[in-house]
Amino acid sequence: MLLPDSFTFTQQNLQDYKDCAYRFYLREILNLEWPAVESEPIREQEALMQLGTSFHLLCQQYFSGIPAEVLTAQISQDELAEWWQNFLKLDLHPAEGDFSVEKLNSVPFAGCRLTAKIDLLLKSDGKLVIYDWKTSQHQPKRQSLLARMQSKVYPLVISNLTKNKALAPESIEMIYWYPAFPQSPVKFTYSSTQKDTDQTELELLVAEIAAKDKEAFRKTENLKSCSFCRYRSLCDRGKEAGLSDMENDLPDSDDAFNFDFDAI
Ligand code: SF4
Repeated sequence: MLLPDSFTFTQQNLQDYKDCAYRFYLREILNLEWPAVESEPIREQEALMQLGTSFHLLCQQYFSGIPAEVLTAQISQDELAEWWQNFLKLDLHPAEGDFSVEKLNSVPFAGCRLTAKIDLLLKSDGKLVIYDWKTSQHQPKRQSLLARMQSKVYPLVISNLTKNKALAPESIEMIYWYPAFPQSPVKFTYSSTQKDTDQTELELLVAEIAAKDKEAFRKTENLKSCSFCRYRSLCDRGKEAGLSDMENDLPDSDDAFNFDFDAI
């Protein structure tokens, strides 16, 4: 087994494995940094990343109790101001103790750990609502979003927390909320059936990864995955980054930057 005993699985590293086992090996086992841009145009992507970070920070400050008007006064970019106004229209005012923000949640899982960093977890009318802020400039199709590891890992971790053991999975809802598309959040309600399915799928995936030796972490055959991967020159899969307007091939801009927020 190549994985360290304390290894933590996240939606990001599991998605890496699904997209390309070799990428998982390079990132998670070799911990190999490799300098390359993941998508073009670079400046546009950097600006988008900054915008996303600023939006997450504003939300965090809002839930820490800083008045909305104080935060509004700090914003100098038009796009961020528009996103922020869209967020305020959600009219979220949870009581103290009924929410957590940017919290790392972790459970034992198949001999390792499974971790999820949740943007906002809200208790509301006996339900738990997982919000994930998606700051990309496009919305992927609902089915492709629901098929991603994030949609399986986040509700499973929340459902398996000791304090939530008595809660029926049907009481958990997940919402992908896009500040650029406030009218069309992607929501789904968890269920016992879905939980069982996801638990089994992830256990099998973790066991498969844990059993692999070095040679078994093979490069993907899907060259589209390579276009947005920082290791493409190492793998001799091209030097040029994919264009960011190939949005249908990108899950979303948060992932495009390929930073594992769940691991921090
Ligand atoms: S460049 Fe392609 S083969 Fe290499 S790690 Fe990235 S996705 Fe995998």
